[in-house]
Amino acid sequence: MISPAVIILLLAIFGACIGSFLNVCIFRMPRGESLAWPGSRCTSCGRALSWYENIPVVSWVVLRGRCRTCRAPVSWMYPTVEVLAALVFVSAYSLYGLTLLGAVRALFACALIVLFVTDLQHKILPNAITLPGIVVGFLVSLVLPPGWHDSLIGILVGGGTLFAIAEAYYRLRGQEGLGMGDVKLLGMIGAFLGWKLVLLTLVLASFAGSVVGGAFIMSGRGNMQYALPFGTFLSIGALVAAIWGTPIVDWYFGFYG
Ligand SMILES: [Zn+2]
Repeated sequence: MISPAVIILLLAIFGACIGSFLNVCIFRMPRGESLAWPGSRCTSCGRALSWYENIPVVSWVVLRGRCRTCRAPVSWMYPTVEVLAALVFVSAYSLYGLTLLGAVRALFACALIVLFVTDLQHKILPNAITLPGIVVGFLVSLVLPPGWHDSLIGILVGGGTLFAIAEAYYRLRGQEGLGMGDVKLLGMIGAFLGWKLVLLTLVLASFAGSVVGGAFIMSGRGNMQYALPFGTFLSIGALVAAIWGTPIVDWYFGFYG
């Protein structure tokens, strides 16, 4: 019997390595580059990185966030994504144990990390993630919670609600506030989490959106139009819902129901 502390340590290392792969996805997917080839390179001087420059988190800290040869700064986003992915795996284990559901929720959360950063940096939510995500989310729901019924309603409620909001916004303001990327993202979230957690995601995302939007307005840096893309809030809301949503919903209905 392996002790839980050892499992947590191994999962944190595994999660950080997955985070390293997520960084490759984040950099290459919006640029239409292959994920498999070539190996990791400095994005500034193009030199291939050796294994000891590729250790998640550790290399960045040891090299003080710079390329060893050209000294170009390496974004703090890299170690942040690696730490976040490690946290996702450890949290999924602490809530779901070593189960298929825990693994699916952790991998789903990883996809959300990629979507969060690509929407933040490029204002795009790659179809290469969201469209297969809807199908995969529905298929795993055939055997796992929330079940295919809730999953199907989740896709329709998630995608449909956002589509209606996007349409209403477009008609009222005469410009696009939400893109079809957000609609597909919420469809994917519904497929994996079911309609209850899709609604929780929308509540969390709107709350985060109003806090950040309010901060933008109060700091005098512009209005909501200049705030972050909505997909970033949806991704963060769904990440929280994917890992902690079930306890939150149980607590809410246990408390008030
Ligand atoms: Zn370099």
